[in-house]
Amino acid sequence: MIAIISDTHSNLAALEAVIEDIRSRHIERVLCLGDVVGYGPQPRECVALTRKLGFTIMGNHDEAIFHSHKTEQFNLRAEMAIEWTREQLSKQGTEDEVAERFDYLRSLPVSEERAIDSVPLLFVHGSPRKPLREYIFPRDVQNQEKMREIFSLIRGLCFVGHSHVPGIYTEDLAYTHPSELELLKIYHFEEKQKAVVNVGSVGQPRDNDPRACYVTLTDEADAVVFRRVRYDVEKTRKLIYDTPGLDNSLGDRLLEGR
Ligand code: ZN
Repeated sequence: MIAIISDTHSNLAALEAVIEDIRSRHIERVLCLGDVVGYGPQPRECVALTRKLGFTIMGNHDEAIFHSHKTEQFNLRAEMAIEWTREQLSKQGTEDEVAERFDYLRSLPVSEERAIDSVPLLFVHGSPRKPLREYIFPRDVQNQEKMREIFSLIRGLCFVGHSHVPGIYTEDLAYTHPSELELLKIYHFEEKQKAVVNVGSVGQPRDNDPRACYVTLTDEADAVVFRRVRYDVEKTRKLIYDTPGLDNSLGDRLLEGR
């Protein structure tokens, strides 16, 4: 099995809980779809831990750390968090260690293609059209043109994050939230089926479930399981409250997962 995680957003308590859950399932391979930092209180720790984890691609918040002009598109709350995060990443450690941290974020690829058992897999943060920027939301199944174009760029399964809303998008213009799946939250793919799988968010879920979210993919790439993991939300909220550079609302939203 492979674990696919995304959108940790500097929430170390959530990342640690997810990693523990992954290890308890004896899963060795972990793929991260980006946004390691941004919003949360422990960027250095999350970068260090993610580096050890395995393969990671770039998210828009990771990119904003070394592309200051790119912050224009963020709202004030997110932009303040990016400024604060950049500062934190420049602190602690030798000059070389700091440089290495920034080099690591800068070197992350924006997409990754692999194949398992002849099933083509594409990994991006946002969407195959605009890997770093474009959101795919549940309401987009009503946007035929958008979904058709997205599916024309996919040969098999495409794994995304970015919207922080987990679920499966299929070519027949349907969206399925994990809560609509049966107890074990497994989604089985038919042979040659195309699908976009949003793996949800580790550190800032936005589907009204505060638990950290990630996905596991079978060795045959024929099914995914949506996993939810409880973590110490209060701990992260308190750290956000104690950080003047981070808006308190960023902590409050974690309690409800919105
Ligand atoms: Zn994100």
